[in-house]
Amino acid sequence: MTEESGGRLTIGVDLGGTKVETALVDHAGQILGRSRVSSRPEAGGAAVIATIAAAVRREVERAGGAPIHGVGVGVAGQVDPGTGTVRHAINLHFNDFPLRDRLSAALDGLPVTVLNDVQAATYGEWRHGAGRGVADLVTLFVGTGVGGGVVADGRLLRGTGGSLGEIGHTTVQLDGRRCRCGNDGCVEAYAGGWAIAARAAEAVRADRAGGARLLELAAGRPHACTAGMVGKAAAEGDPLARLLVDEVAAALGAAVASVVNAFNPALVILGGGVVDGIPELVERAAQAVVVRALPAARAGVQIVRPLLGLHAGTVGAAAWARTVLADAATHAAPADRRARKPAIQLS
Ligand SMILES: [Zn+2]
Repeated sequence: MTEESGGRLTIGVDLGGTKVETALVDHAGQILGRSRVSSRPEAGGAAVIATIAAAVRREVERAGGAPIHGVGVGVAGQVDPGTGTVRHAINLHFNDFPLRDRLSAALDGLPVTVLNDVQAATYGEWRHGAGRGVADLVTLFVGTGVGGGVVADGRLLRGTGGSLGEIGHTTVQLDGRRCRCGNDGCVEAYAGGWAIAARAAEAVRADRAGGARLLELAAGRPHACTAGMVGKAAAEGDPLARLLVDEVAAALGAAVASVVNAFNPALVILGGGVVDGIPELVERAAQAVVVRALPAARAGVQIVRPLLGLHAGTVGAAAWARTVLADAATHAAPADRRARKPAIQLS
């Protein structure tokens, strides 16, 4: 390990409702080691903190004595940008949970930063992935749900309450399909994995002959249809699956065109499991931008796939911690800077 990388190690944590991924990350965004364990939110907040702290300590050991500057956590929930308190995280059963302070205390004062998990993934793709060197970009991750993030003028935007980037809940159809958020016609209600599965089940029940291929893939059970099956059948040319993909592409394209108008990005990074399963959605979104977005907003915009894959969240959370803690050191009063240890190491 070089002196440079050894001096800039942070630990990234991606905290979701089912798992915690923890990684030791260097200044270049390289993962030097990682682990993945169940988050078990049903055991309560104290148990979740203990689980994360244990995983972080394993990565500290892995660093072999190299100083660790801090821990960045990306959490599947809404985070207060000022305090690192998780306001709401439905899958983790967190409400106004002081994650930053509780985790830092459990780690003997090691500095901790917290942000939303999709914002963390956005930051990772910006600093170390598909968005490197670009000052204005938007991400859209289409998985079970649809999340996004925005970098504008070289800065990750977080919003007043920390929820900036909820592009999945852009209305693309007035009085359209009901979304999980309670609104009607959100893009997630068309392009989210859960929505594609529900729509496929509905279509197959309405037309069992037309849905023969999808039914075959779902072992005869309409409710077992998934977005991945729709993508597979569509790739084979199945007419019903092609229609379903057209619906997804239309909704997603409208949402992408809207964010291009809103943020005038140089880059839209479009990823997630649904896009992995239906890769043509990238080209279809680009076509929609040409048709729908303002010429001035779309000039020069590119739509690309992400580069960091499943690790964007941990790499991004680690990079965020590095940036925030470096800024804090730079902006501290001189006396504070002298008093501040160059790095805090767990014993
Ligand atoms: Zn919604």
